[in-house]
Amino acid sequence: MNDFSAALPPQFDAGRNLLLIDGKKVEPSGGQWFDAIDPCTGKAIAQIAEGDARDIDRAVASARAAFEGPWSRFKAADRQLVLLRLADLIEREFDDLALADTLEMGRPITPSKAIRSIIVRALRHFAGLATAIHGYTLENSAPVELMSMTLKEPVGVVGVIIPWNGPIFSAVWKCAPALAAGCTIVLKPSERGSLTPLRFAELCLEAGIPPGVVNVMTGHGGAGAALSAHPDVDKISFTGSCGTGQKIIAASAATVKKVTMELGGKSPNIIFADANLDLAVPMAASAIFNNSGQVCSAGSRIFVERAIHDEFVARLAEVGRHYVIGHSLDPATQVGPIVSDVQFERVCGYLDLAPREGASILLGGSALDEGDLARGFYVAPTVLGNVHDDMRVAREEIFGPVGCVMPFDTMEEVIARANATQFGLAGAVWTRDISRAMTVARRVRAGTIWINHYHTMDPGVPFGGYKMSGSGREGGFDHVESYLETKGVWVRTDA
Ligand code: NAD
Repeated sequence: MNDFSAALPPQFDAGRNLLLIDGKKVEPSGGQWFDAIDPCTGKAIAQIAEGDARDIDRAVASARAAFEGPWSRFKAADRQLVLLRLADLIEREFDDLALADTLEMGRPITPSKAIRSIIVRALRHFAGLATAIHGYTLENSAPVELMSMTLKEPVGVVGVIIPWNGPIFSAVWKCAPALAAGCTIVLKPSERGSLTPLRFAELCLEAGIPPGVVNVMTGHGGAGAALSAHPDVDKISFTGSCGTGQKIIAASAATVKKVTMELGGKSPNIIFADANLDLAVPMAASAIFNNSGQVCSAGSRIFVERAIHDEFVARLAEVGRHYVIGHSLDPATQVGPIVSDVQFERVCGYLDLAPREGASILLGGSALDEGDLARGFYVAPTVLGNVHDDMRVAREEIFGPVGCVMPFDTMEEVIARANATQFGLAGAVWTRDISRAMTVARRVRAGTIWINHYHTMDPGVPFGGYKMSGSGREGGFDHVESYLETKGVWVRTDA
């Protein structure tokens, strides 16, 4: 399919998309707008409101009022019920949500649709956990008769700031546990992925979640900065780049907000000579080429045991060469465009740098400009060889379809090299030797390790970063816990 004109589904506004505050669509205070751009064509598909600090004030006030008002009267079972209804609504509408994400940020339509199951499961999973929140009674050794217990209470108003590489996924992944915990939200989507987070908030209203519980503040970094510094926001839950995360931590310091940080990565994918290469090769390709490499946990450093290095590289290049590159709405497309002109220039900058640093290009290595591809921001799936650990292409997060393949000789060596990074988000090890697999899994300092696999996530399993890849865990009960305060309560029983 190479029809490069496509329309948004009817429930999305191809014209002006307003802010959503207190259940109402409102004009941005500054009267400013920006375009949502289809990265396949570079054309505007909708206009988005640019929220500023005044709008953040309004949204936070609305979230505070809802937190102290109607939402506080929702019992755990009520929160569970509305989240289950929301799951049904999102499941029903998912094809259109997937289409809007694809048009706005360029992920091919087939993988956009394929995340329906994890998104709907996440909503149902966190709905279930709403009624599982619990404190404890605790022994104490006080000299008078005192009982002690813990109460769990929602943190309060949460600023949720998300990136563009999975707008509906990030909105659901972060907001569902916050809602299960009883928090209210000001959701700040990326300027490159505003449409489905706005629709998510509308569906929250339709599911019976009161106005003001989920507010959406579209806009650029300024809106996020105002949210991070706002004195009446209790917590910031952020997913995005390391540099922005550092700014948010600094901004939130003045009011000592709680923060969860899901940041970048440069994940090692370690392949030993005894690995099942029929599995390891295609998964190494998908680990770095899926979503054009714009995945936080992308397997971008591919360490291959020297005995199979040449065979592995040849097979990886062969798989990569057959990836279908095209318009994101074509169901056959496996590699779509890079999200934006800025990000495209950034990735191309690394492709220019690689040979200057001494790397050799084993596959791809350039932008694609044949036919209609010239209208979008396309980069070829790329494999780099002759890469050394100290090169920038091996150290920095490229966030494009660019994998560095590096040979290794021993397990000790590869563990040390896998850990020689500021990041620690994820990694994988491929071997049929279980003790070696477990040794690597234990010793690689990262929040997720896949053994003989890559990239699967589940709402029941924690995900998050070591080192500069972040703090806190999302997924599982840890995620709900991250939106709860723990209060110690003492009761004198002989009064
Ligand atoms: P980004 O940091 O540029 O932007 C993320 C969000 O922060 C956007 O909504 C943006 O508008 C906002 N923002 C920008 N400046 C801000 C400021 N000063 N204060 C507050 N908010 C501000 O990231 P991106 O380019 O949208 O996303 C790509 C990055 O996200 C990559 O580094 C990737 O690794 C990371 N990521 C991490 C995970 C994870 O789970 N660890 C998941 C997806 C993406």
